[in-house]
Amino acid sequence: MGGFMRTRTNSLFFHVKTLLVDITCDIIERMEQILTIVCKLSPTTEHVAQIEATLKAFADACNYANEVVKPQTTSSVTIQNLVYQDLRSMFGLSANLAVRVCARVGANRKTAKAKKKTVESFDATSIDYDARIFDFRQKDNVVSLTLMNGRYRIPLDIGEYQAVNLDGKKPTSAQLCKHQDGSYYIHIQVKTIPPDTTEPERVIGVDLGRSDIAVTSDGDSWSGKDIKATRDRFARTRASLQSKAMKGTRSTRRRCRKILKRLSGRERRYQTNQNHVISKTIVSKAKASKSSIALEDLTGIRERTNQQPRSKTERRRSNSWAFYQLRIFLTYKAIGAGVKVVMVNPRYTSQMCHKCLHIHPVKGQSYRSGKRFKCGHCGFVGDADSNGSMNIAALGVPVNALEGSILSCNLRRTYQGYYKPPLYCEPSGETISGG
Ligand SMILES: [Zn+2]
Repeated sequence: MGGFMRTRTNSLFFHVKTLLVDITCDIIERMEQILTIVCKLSPTTEHVAQIEATLKAFADACNYANEVVKPQTTSSVTIQNLVYQDLRSMFGLSANLAVRVCARVGANRKTAKAKKKTVESFDATSIDYDARIFDFRQKDNVVSLTLMNGRYRIPLDIGEYQAVNLDGKKPTSAQLCKHQDGSYYIHIQVKTIPPDTTEPERVIGVDLGRSDIAVTSDGDSWSGKDIKATRDRFARTRASLQSKAMKGTRSTRRRCRKILKRLSGRERRYQTNQNHVISKTIVSKAKASKSSIALEDLTGIRERTNQQPRSKTERRRSNSWAFYQLRIFLTYKAIGAGVKVVMVNPRYTSQMCHKCLHIHPVKGQSYRSGKRFKCGHCGFVGDADSNGSMNIAALGVPVNALEGSILSCNLRRTYQGYYKPPLYCEPSGETISGG
């Protein structure tokens, strides 16, 4: 639910003959996000009896509608036209709860249809609420819900997180749920709008997931060493457990499988935590320095790179969940903090020298070798990922400056002023002098 929206507002293709870099840019815009706040209910015994009765009636009504209405029908309006009266008289549901039943059956059928399945049955574990049959009162943290015998006020047992996120909000919908441990919860949906994006004055380029995890054009870097060491440690433990899980006695095998499962969870949590820390640091620095964040646009990298044999790094960059997660974290945290994110074309960002915009003249060869970048044209020597992040930042500048406007002369000048006509070596080795 919610999230970010990608728009191709300023698809700006420019071909500087001498540079041959085309930039397609996407600006990730802020948009309304729907947040679900899970709140525990503190029902009295009477409340519990009412909730249980309503859960049962709601599920029975869903199952009835699911049986009576032919399986192909997925429209909740059609379902409502067919069974609404029955639902009210047979199950004693209020008008709005009967409507919610039809909506639930319709929605579940649509989901099932998309997966080429059919809806079997409904369990008595949840009820949908909308603004007419549900309300949240902030002053004493109470929700009022329509149950079988009318409207009930039930106190919430909530912490600070819930209180902060519900503060001043007008919830639009909710689900009353019975969790597996038998306690009752209300999942409340509220709309949140991230803060206004501050007009960025500069761009921080972020190069992700090559030899280091992340390197910024401001000089911050997160080496993969710690993570690699941890991952290797996990891998060694895993290998030894795996062999035990194959050879040992029955109970040893079972125990090893259990440990393996726990281990994979721990490894994942470790990387997730790292990604939270890295993305948080980059976003707070961008916010403090009024910068936008430029990232490489890797959507469709699979298709684009299919023609050529791909390097191990590229495969990891497009397949690894940890790398993907870091990009997502960065984007979400940036939107949440009002920091703009711009996407730049990843072509050449790792091969081009950020000083002279030169690419190695021989096809298949690169000035980059592992962590080191040594430009054969201007002599620049430095960290390869850091060079990449500078290129990403440079590509992000025009995208940033042109947001929401059509190219004007002024901006063109800014643009070309940024890219001094460079020298570009054709892969054949022929050097073309730029304007
Ligand atoms: Zn150079």
